[in-house]
This record gives sequence, C-alpha cells and structure tokens, in this order.
Amino acid sequence: MSGYRGRFAPTPSGPLHFGSLVTALASYLDARHAGGTWLVRIEDIDPPRCPPGTDAEILRQLEAFGLHWDEEVRYQSSRHEAYQAALEQLAGQGLVYPCSCSRKEWRDYAVYPGWCRGGVRHPERPVAWRLRSDLGQRPIVWQDRLYARQCFDPAELGDVVLKRKDGLWAYQLAVVVDDGDQRINEIVRGIDLLDNTPWQCQLRQALDLPAPRYLHLPLIVADNGQKLSKQNLAPALPTDETRVRPLLHQALTTLDQVPDSSLARAPVEEQLGEAIAAWDSARLQPRRCRALPGALGQD
Ligand code: GLU
Repeated sequence: MSGYRGRFAPTPSGPLHFGSLVTALASYLDARHAGGTWLVRIEDIDPPRCPPGTDAEILRQLEAFGLHWDEEVRYQSSRHEAYQAALEQLAGQGLVYPCSCSRKEWRDYAVYPGWCRGGVRHPERPVAWRLRSDLGQRPIVWQDRLYARQCFDPAELGDVVLKRKDGLWAYQLAVVVDDGDQRINEIVRGIDLLDNTPWQCQLRQALDLPAPRYLHLPLIVADNGQKLSKQNLAPALPTDETRVRPLLHQALTTLDQVPDSSLARAPVEEQLGEAIAAWDSARLQPRRCRALPGALGQD
C-alpha cells in the first residue's frame, strides 16, 4: 500500500445516480492506480434530508459497480463529540462566533455582513456558529489537479455557518474534521464543491491539519444542460449486472479514459482491472460532460 488515502463521501439524501457514479469511480481509480487506500464515508449530518435506508442502498450500489472500499464505513452522525471539540478549539482561537441573525435580515447583502462578530445582536434567539472569514491566511491558494491554480479571498465568500441554529453540524466543519481524522491526503470530488474549498482550507489551517491535494471533476449535465442531481430526478443507479456493465463503461468514457469498446458488456471486475491499470487523470478535460441517454435511464 502506498501512503495515498482517498475517499468517497456521499450525503445519503437519495440513491446514487450517474453523476455520483462518475465521482465515486474517479476517486476509486485514482486511489487504486496509486496503490492507495479508498474509504467510504456517509455524510449523514442532516437527518431530515436523509431517508432511512438510503445509506444501505448507496453501499449496495457501490458494490454492484465493484467499488469495494477499505476499512469500516464511517458515519458522520456518530461524530458529534469530534465536531464539538473542533468548534471549541476554533472558539478558543477567536475564529468563530455565535450569530442570531436571520437570513431575512441580511437578504440585501451577497454574503452575511458579520453583524454578530462583536457580540450576538439578539441574545434571546437561538444562535448559529459562524467562521470568521476576515481572519487567518488570505488569500487561499491551491493548485487543483484539473482546474489549475485557484485563488479565493474567503472574506468575499463570507462567514460560513459551522453549526446551525437547530444544533445540526454543517458540512464544512464535518468534512474537514473527518478528512483530517481519517488522514485523507487526496480529495477527488465534483466541481460543485470547488468554491467550498477555501472555507475548508481555512478551517484545516486553523485546526492545524495537513493539506490534501484536490482534484475537482467536471460537471455532468443532462440534455437540458442541467446538473444531474436528485433534485432534477436523475434516475437511481441500477444494481443488476446487465445494466451495470454498460453504465460502468459509460462512466469510464465520461472520465475521458478510453476503455476498449469490447469491454462494454464485460464483468465489472474485468472493466475495473483494466481501468485501474490504465487510469490517467491527465486525460480529464475541464469541461462539462453530457451524460448519454443510457445513463439517464432513457434507453
Ligand atoms: N457529502 C458531499 C456530497 O455528497 C461531498 C463531500 C465531499 O466530497 O467533500 O455532495
């Protein structure tokens, strides 16, 4: 095993669709090609958004596509203490503050204007915890493996919420704490999360965690140009062999790899074996990828 540690971290708000398969597959191939470790983490921090049983369905889908993970699956719903400890560490550094403002109050601003930085404005209300974007290292710069040099001033993105008013943890904090705890050093995920990365870099620096490398993947769109997502009803991935095989082949093609066309009906182990050996992230093109009708359940 090399020191490479990657992960796929789905939110179980619905079953995986073709877009999530492409993300899972890229992170899997990148890890396996490097002889590394590949983990699955279920990001179930928002129970109202996660129907019961969806986590098990996602794991079944991954297995059907031959994407077997290492180590135990981690569930973020069991990580409350770790997130609380991180929040307290940040509070000790003066980097977070409680905020009682409602979205309605600052609707005329592009980002939250930081009114509660100097003290909670409405002490009688419940509070969210926000990260101060004006402190710490600025700008945030990293070299994305696909999208090249990225440079953001976190202050322009605003003070992101780390813990919500209803007590639920926000993605930004949970993802950084777990990537750190699981010693993830390679993050491969969709481009839709690229503009979340500056906050995560800020948090990582504040929590004194090592920097991973980032590879953000192109957006997969449907015929109408819309992102494939649960919201716009991208169909759930099938788990029966006959439908899985050609879809895996399509996902490899979408990732600009060049699987032999004769493999389109081959068992997943065979397709993956070839794909791991041939994986070349430099083939990826930073452009939108149109999903083929088969991937949208239209064949
Ligand atoms: N849980 C996030 C999602 O499903 C992905 C987290 C990540 O890869 O950083 O969109």
